[in-house]
Amino acid sequence: MKRKILIINTGGTLSSVMKDSGLAPGLTTTDMQKELHIVSGDTDLEIEDFCSLDSANIFPEDWQNLARRIANVRNDYDGVVVIHGTDTLAYTSSMLSFMLRNITIPVVITGSQLSIKNPVADAMENCRCAIHMAASGIPGVFVAFNRKVMLGCRASKVRSLSFDAFESINYPNVATISSLGMSIDDKAVPRRSGVFHLSDSYSSKVCMIKMFPGMHRSLLESLADQGYKGIYLEAYGIGGMPFVKHDFTGTVEKLIEKGITVVVGTQCPYEGSKMDVYETGRRALEIGVLQAHDMTSEAALTKLMWILGMTDNPAEIRDYYSINIAGEVTI
Ligand code: ASP
Repeated sequence: MKRKILIINTGGTLSSVMKDSGLAPGLTTTDMQKELHIVSGDTDLEIEDFCSLDSANIFPEDWQNLARRIANVRNDYDGVVVIHGTDTLAYTSSMLSFMLRNITIPVVITGSQLSIKNPVADAMENCRCAIHMAASGIPGVFVAFNRKVMLGCRASKVRSLSFDAFESINYPNVATISSLGMSIDDKAVPRRSGVFHLSDSYSSKVCMIKMFPGMHRSLLESLADQGYKGIYLEAYGIGGMPFVKHDFTGTVEKLIEKGITVVVGTQCPYEGSKMDVYETGRRALEIGVLQAHDMTSEAALTKLMWILGMTDNPAEIRDYYSINIAGEVTI
């Protein structure tokens, strides 16, 4: 029997056209039908338009609606492909990994660096890879790009122009395509840990800050004044923060006392945080910050938004943040 695959289009470069105002999404699935069917192989393809947005315009409510749509159709299809702009694709794939807990089918997000109507584009190849993965029967949320398949919560956009725009950070690729075909690394596919559960709430009172020398702690204080509940702080190296000239650590401690969750990660994309090594990191751990370990910043941020959407109990937040939900962290 042919595998039934649903393609959901959200926009991005893959569906873009040149307008007077610049390159912007404009093609609908009807306009892209011919190309999508060419790469659909032996699958039974259905296509639908969800929105037509440059992914800079994708917001958390779109993640929620997308998760709901996928949850609703999960029993009608063998797999789902989401066409998405590459700029915020990894945030969407990370959040979907959390919201679609223990999803029973493959959900594969893809996009491209050139419009599908461009004869030299990577679009057809990426869709071919995504559809093939969606037909694989391997459940989970994945990203397909440039002949590789990554875990949705480990993918990150690392190049702005090249076709090889995404990498799987601190985690092996789930699959690669070579002259031998698609080879799947079974060990890189996280096991489902229970029954499917749509968990689609999130907190919009979360922000991400990259630390820099000279950053003033009043910035953090102003976030507390604005009612923020969670802060993902991208710190230096293996995760330290200043305490000598400016007592940043003391300010963070006050935020934690006010009930704000502070997660500390690293600006280095590879190898993650290890805050128990330096004094700058240990002091932060002692005041109660949580650690992002080897998560991507996209996963660290969306995990915080997702958890704070479920609970504001500090012990529960700590417990949730400290476990591996969808393969996003090595603990
Ligand atoms: N600006 C585009 C977007 O993210 C870039 C792309 O799709 O490659 O929607």
